[in-house]
Amino acid sequence: MGDIGEALDRSEVDVVVIGAGFAGLYALYMLREAGLSVRAFERGEGVGGTWYWNRYPGARVDIQSVEYMFTKFPDLEQEWDWTELMPAQAEIERYLNWVADKLGLRDGITFDTAVQRATYDDAAATWRVETDAGEQVVARFVVAATGCLSAPIEPAIPGLGSFAGDSLYTNRFPHEGYDFTGKRVAVIGTGSSGVQSVPVIAAQAAELFVLQRSAAYTLPSPNRPLGPNELDELKSQYADIRSAQWASPVGTARFGAVSFLGRRSLTNILEASWDEQIGKVDELGFAGCFAWADVFFDVAANDAAKRLYAEAIKRVVNDPGTAEDLVPHYPFGCKRVIIDEGYFETFNRDNVQLVNLRRNPIESVVPSGIQLADRLLELDVIVYATGFDAMTGSLSRIDIRGRDGVTLRDVWAESPTAYLGLGVAGFPNLFTVTGPGSPSVLTNMVTSIEHHVEWITACIGHLQANGHRSIEPDRAAQDEWAEHVNTFAGPLQVHPSCNSWYLGANVPGKTRHYMPYAGGLTRYMARCAEVVESGYTGFELA
Ligand code: NAP
Repeated sequence: MGDIGEALDRSEVDVVVIGAGFAGLYALYMLREAGLSVRAFERGEGVGGTWYWNRYPGARVDIQSVEYMFTKFPDLEQEWDWTELMPAQAEIERYLNWVADKLGLRDGITFDTAVQRATYDDAAATWRVETDAGEQVVARFVVAATGCLSAPIEPAIPGLGSFAGDSLYTNRFPHEGYDFTGKRVAVIGTGSSGVQSVPVIAAQAAELFVLQRSAAYTLPSPNRPLGPNELDELKSQYADIRSAQWASPVGTARFGAVSFLGRRSLTNILEASWDEQIGKVDELGFAGCFAWADVFFDVAANDAAKRLYAEAIKRVVNDPGTAEDLVPHYPFGCKRVIIDEGYFETFNRDNVQLVNLRRNPIESVVPSGIQLADRLLELDVIVYATGFDAMTGSLSRIDIRGRDGVTLRDVWAESPTAYLGLGVAGFPNLFTVTGPGSPSVLTNMVTSIEHHVEWITACIGHLQANGHRSIEPDRAAQDEWAEHVNTFAGPLQVHPSCNSWYLGANVPGKTRHYMPYAGGLTRYMARCAEVVESGYTGFELA
């Protein structure tokens, strides 16, 4: 294998990294540090991945800033100043650009270039990677740092392309931004992206129609600016924060959407009187609906929490019909809880209307707007906040051919799994950062990404040190792991009314299979470490 300094021929490298978001940047850095020659390809014009593409108004992370950053750079982290408790897209994108410069990563990345094809050569144990710029690179390893939520899905709405106004997508929002002032706007979709963008768009638009197919479970964001001395204080505690973060089953120790799910009240909602239940809402607001021991494990308890949530919505939303339409009909915990800034309050504005698509579906998009079953919405702008083909979509869209020409797309169409979420049988030397079967999206993504990249870097080091040419999951081990992952998907996550992207249920035709590992990051990391200590159990090394 080559040395980075000697890798003059850039068409042959040790590793190709796909993507330059958190995962791609860290992979590029770590693999270079390990003495490998690496090339990264990024389809965007800049670094950032998720935080490059999803620049819709209101885009913000639901993890605290001091934990939503790389954790292994004690000097660097002291230099970076977060301005808010939960940073917005622009600040995270700035952070990643700053990291890329500080670590000197840009010269390793080919921007504006998508990997289109990757073909495994069994005889040479190498991958031939081809880009949309016509470049071919041969690499021993491919590290797919392609993100869990980076393959947008186009909704199958008749006439989508016929609209004469502006069509915007939250997951590839214009870089120059968009001024909604005075416009008649519809937002389609009320997942995290829709819910976050609605209050901001409502404040500008002349009229806003929120087109909801499934209502959202959303909690008010605790975001605020960080006080002048607060960040210094936090910085002085970074070492402790990092330890707590890495000991946490969700990769974050401080308040955030995911850590909220980790906190259990000792009381069961099913044993509490209505007055006690309401008292919890008085005390904790929306969060009080779910601060019960049984809500996450029991469907009846979850139903009780939903009734409480309906009450909490009624306290905020003035119009009773709208308040009722805003209550979800699936269990809390089926989808990721959203953190919003004034979502429900927005429905009290005179310029905002909720359209319940379950009662009044979209018939088609027409040149002047959206034809609903009961009326035509005349519009200047349609914002699609309609989500992603999650976890497998970004790699399934690349023509990846492993042993015997088998495509990853076909393998995952049948069963979207990967051994430990790290690799797929039949695809030697291909590593999937935060792939299906890993905790990833159920945790702080940054922590999960760091863990995977470090595991992969050490694995490649082991192969080199021991003269191995390839590593590949054993099919039986992969199936066993998939079964194990399945045991953690609870009744709420796989409930028939749950149509989450975790299950692939948001993509027409996708196999319904709970993809992430819900057993917790710490348990998962211990398993990954055991696999290494026992000589890469479940992998075939050749
Ligand atoms: P999403 O959660 O999948 O939501 C998509 C929305 O579009 C859903 O309400 C869906 O309705 C609706 N939709 C899809 N196709 C439709 C159609 N043809 N007609 C009408 N409605 C349609 O996608 P997302 O909001 O982009 O969020 C995805 C994930 O990204 C989140 O769960 C989260 O993990 C991450 N994210 C995080 C943050 C954050 O941390 N703050 C922000 C944004 C995104 P149905 O539910 O009925 O299908």
